[in-house]
Amino acid sequence: MAGLYIHVPFCRQACHYCDFHFSTRLDTMEALVEAIVTEASMRLHMDRSWNDISFNTLYLGGGTPSLLPSNLLKRMVLEVTQVMGIHHDALDEFTLEANPEDMSEDKIKAWIDLGVRRLSVGVQTFDDPTLRWMNRAHTGQQAVDALVRAQRCGVESMSMDLIYGVPTSRNWEFDVRTALGLPLQHLSAYALMVEPNTVLGSRVGKGEQREAPESHVVQAYDMLCNHMHSAGWEHYETSNWAAPSTMVDRPFHRALHNSSYWSGKPYLALGPGAHGFHHTTRYANVANNPRYIRAIQQGVLAQTVEHLSHVDRYNEALMTGLRTADGISPQSLAQAWGMRPDVQEAEVWSRLVREGRLTALSGGRYRIPEVHWITGDQVAASLFCVSET
Ligand code: SF4
Repeated sequence: MAGLYIHVPFCRQACHYCDFHFSTRLDTMEALVEAIVTEASMRLHMDRSWNDISFNTLYLGGGTPSLLPSNLLKRMVLEVTQVMGIHHDALDEFTLEANPEDMSEDKIKAWIDLGVRRLSVGVQTFDDPTLRWMNRAHTGQQAVDALVRAQRCGVESMSMDLIYGVPTSRNWEFDVRTALGLPLQHLSAYALMVEPNTVLGSRVGKGEQREAPESHVVQAYDMLCNHMHSAGWEHYETSNWAAPSTMVDRPFHRALHNSSYWSGKPYLALGPGAHGFHHTTRYANVANNPRYIRAIQQGVLAQTVEHLSHVDRYNEALMTGLRTADGISPQSLAQAWGMRPDVQEAEVWSRLVREGRLTALSGGRYRIPEVHWITGDQVAASLFCVSET
């Protein structure tokens, strides 16, 4: 099983904190969609092993896929899935990232007709002054109305993004309570990162803006964890929570596409700035719309390719596994990569277990307890293997 990701690199305006690849020049949408369809057939042709893989999740991310006119989005999805031999009925999950200002009734209905079953909505906060500070294109009320409208139109499942650790006076608890009052099955929450090539990064660099203190970030995360726990949601990955479900085989609404990333399954990615992974190779398409389109038109993939060693894959499995509630199995790591952290880094491992920063689960698995998750990446890094064995 594998995931298919399509990166739609357009945004209405640039959020001040964002360093994803996007362009606010919208006049290349049609050419871009044509190029993405062509890329799909080029990739299948150049690496025949993709033909033997079944794709069970489709994720349209960005940028802002909801910004695409419905007819263009439809053309892109139908042509790409046709090229790849994917039947929508066979997909376990089909997600589209949407921003509240695009979620008109007409668009939502067109997405449902196309087979979209899940929306991932970029809200970030319900506080209008903070939304303006972020340079978001919607208000808090628009976000609430959009989610309620989508539920009324019949969207099966919805996720929402929030950002915490923001240096404004917004009321974080109000944001969390508001989210819990909405028709959501999933929540992703990320700490605000100050990235260098952003408006925020430049303001912080010039001393015009301060970052939120570390204690504020930790407090916000703790408060979120407590509220989600009280509401009965499953905290299944450092930044992700799933609501209880009535499905027999899936007690919580975990995101299937993202869960595949974390468990090391292959994913084919299309579009400028998209990253794909298969076997021991990871590729990244050029993060520039005109260059991407030009290269595809010339029959070339403008990409960088990284060949991953056993050690790279092992370290990645440690990092992603320890970010999940299911944790890692040293035994399975040994079978897959010939190394296990309790042997490779025996002293560090024992100390982490002694300090309670790693706890045993059933079946020989270990996880980082929720209370230590905010610093969990340091735990994973302390167990990394640093050379080929
Ligand atoms: S946060 Fe989302 S909407 Fe804002 S610029 Fe980045 S990709 Fe676009």
